Amino acid sequence: MAIRFYVLYPLPSSKEKMSILGEVVSYVEKMVLLHIGIDDTDSRQGMCTTYVGAVAIRRLEQMGFKLRGYPKLIRLNPNWKMKTRGNCAIAFTTSAKKEQIPIIKEIVLKTVAELAELHVETTNPGVIFYQGSRITEEMKAFSKKVVQDIATIEEAEALAKKVGAEVHKFKLGRGIVGALAAIGNTLENDWTFELIAYRTPENRGKPRRIDRSSVEEMNRKTYPSTFDNLDPATGEIRITPHTPCPILYGIRGETPQAVKKASETVKALEPIEQTIIYKTNQGTDEHLRKVKIAEAKPNWSVIVEGTVSKAPHTIPGGHVIFRLKDETGEIDCAAYEPTRQFRDIIRKLIARDRLRVYGGIKEKPELPLTINLEKVEVLEAAPLFRKENPRCQRCGKRMKSEGKNKGYSCKRCKTKLPAGSEKIIRVKRSIGAGKFEVPPRARRHLAKPLIREIVG
Ligand code: ATP
Repeated sequence: MAIRFYVLYPLPSSKEKMSILGEVVSYVEKMVLLHIGIDDTDSRQGMCTTYVGAVAIRRLEQMGFKLRGYPKLIRLNPNWKMKTRGNCAIAFTTSAKKEQIPIIKEIVLKTVAELAELHVETTNPGVIFYQGSRITEEMKAFSKKVVQDIATIEEAEALAKKVGAEVHKFKLGRGIVGALAAIGNTLENDWTFELIAYRTPENRGKPRRIDRSSVEEMNRKTYPSTFDNLDPATGEIRITPHTPCPILYGIRGETPQAVKKASETVKALEPIEQTIIYKTNQGTDEHLRKVKIAEAKPNWSVIVEGTVSKAPHTIPGGHVIFRLKDETGEIDCAAYEPTRQFRDIIRKLIARDRLRVYGGIKEKPELPLTINLEKVEVLEAAPLFRKENPRCQRCGKRMKSEGKNKGYSCKRCKTKLPAGSEKIIRVKRSIGAGKFEVPPRARRHLAKPLIREIVG
């Protein structure tokens, strides 16, 4: 791409100015923006769509094509049953001359064909190419739908056709849903960044080798501009995944500078093939919508305000369940076993507590609708009272109840007191108003950590 530099001193004449302007306009006119979305390239056995994107981008950059802005890693509906793991798709934007567009498309499609787990039945990649400077409102709305709800392959195809986007389906091509959603997500309201370091092929599938104390040091130096590096309760390192994918580690943070600086402290004890920084909707709560209980549906992630109508109880497996009601209905809320110490908070709730709960609703037709809790805000802790039996006026010992409304008696002195002699004492609650969240090890990629709200 040849850009000419002009010496603007001495100032050009108007004729020269027109000529410079003409060249700039014709250069700009020849350049085309190309948005590229990719999804559904991995399987439970390996690969990762972020890696496919990183390789495609590296190959394009090696050919001289530059990215416009950061590539995007977009997390889609976390309740979607056909996801492989974290339900992510990627998109990036490049600009090139019209005649170079076919080369770019070929590089991307070849990379997907080469790296995607096509031999696995459930891997159905999709690639979308969209030329145009404007992401339309309809594209943004589709993206929101894929993050918050369910969309069909047909819907994605129809929208792509309407906006003039090119669709490439491998096998069933389900990936076009996520690919189009990733292009359509313009990350306007909130966003974070993730720096991902990838392993070299010979190490993939083997235990990840990373210096533990360097991660602790990185966390000490950079938290909260980076977050979810460690689980505070267990000390477990959270930047390394536990799957056979090519990722060695991923550092999440507020800015590209923060994640880059943090990665300089982390000591990898195995070679790193490449790194990339994605701009993402992780940690933004983009999946949540505010609803009344009667409106809540499977596959949605919701924010609901209500009152505890049935106190928490623990069911086999260690899951803690309570019931919440508002003026439209009742719904179960669950703190599942993997949320560990968060369940201790939930166990402190009592009937009549006023809450705002955040969480996803899985599609489980055999069970009542249940909100899988991500966060809870106690808006008002209900007063808790305890009845205290009177003391014997002769010996001072606590008297025994004779039965409901039958008064009290002292077993030793045989004295009696009528019903109503008891004291009603207000008990100090071990939970008050405030926000509580699941630990990082149980956190959804999209869930906004409380520290992000506090720091703002
Ligand atoms: P990874 O996070 O490791 O990349 P994954 O969990 O993203 O894997 P995929 O292999 O991409 O899972 O499979 C999810 C598939 O479901 C994709 O084809 C995607 O297009 C599609 N999909 C994702 N969200 C929705 C949704 N809300 N409605 C319909 N289809 C969806």
